Amino acid sequence: MIIRELSEQECIEILAAARVGHLACARDDQPYVVPITIAFAQRSIYSFSLSGQKIDWMRHNPKVSLQVGHPEGDGWKSVVIQGIYKELPDRIGSKLERERAWSLLSSHANWWEPGSLKPVTASIPSDHIFYCLSIESMTGRQAVPE
Ligand SMILES: Cc1cc2nc3c(=O)[nH]c(=O)nc-3n(C[C@H](O)[C@H](O)[C@H](O)COP(=O)(O)OP(=O)(O)OC[C@H]3O[C@@H](n4cnc5c(N)ncnc54)[C@H](O)[C@@H]3O)c2cc1C
Repeated sequence: MIIRELSEQECIEILAAARVGHLACARDDQPYVVPITIAFAQRSIYSFSLSGQKIDWMRHNPKVSLQVGHPEGDGWKSVVIQGIYKELPDRIGSKLERERAWSLLSSHANWWEPGSLKPVTASIPSDHIFYCLSIESMTGRQAVPE
């Protein structure tokens, strides 16, 4: 197996195609990783959630890491980002970005299922937390058979 570094453009293509990532946050020297549904646009990762441990921890410490990747043939591709958590509340100042998050995420079928109760209306429930991870840096690697 040979490992090669991916270019920034290749990383962006993988992020744009990804639907699920592994989100890592940390509090008091304790890491915490969970899978989440994601959408990528303009150097940001968008997602949503109900309240819980990861939201509490990211509010306390907004420095996060996220990994996405997939097998490819007998090898794999993987991207790791370092970023900053930013909440997108439903009010002036973040309304447009919140709507962008909703619009990007809702283009994927059943995007809301893992992170929420089943919606009963087509409107955005107000207790759902939309957020973005603003990308500070990223690296990508690919493994290919020799
Ligand atoms: C493919 C996939 C996509 C998902 N997409 C989303 C999404 O878009 N938004 C979203 O909010 N959630 C999503 N989830 C669920 C997510 O992984 C978490 O389970 C969920 O968000 C609860 O996290 P929390 O920190 O709020 O946990 P809490 O409900 O606060 O519970 C914390 C406790 O539960 C444990 N725990 C939490 N989640 C998991 C887990 N996945 N596996 C094992 N133990 C766990 C923790 O270790 C901790 O002890 C997805 C899961 C999968 C598998």
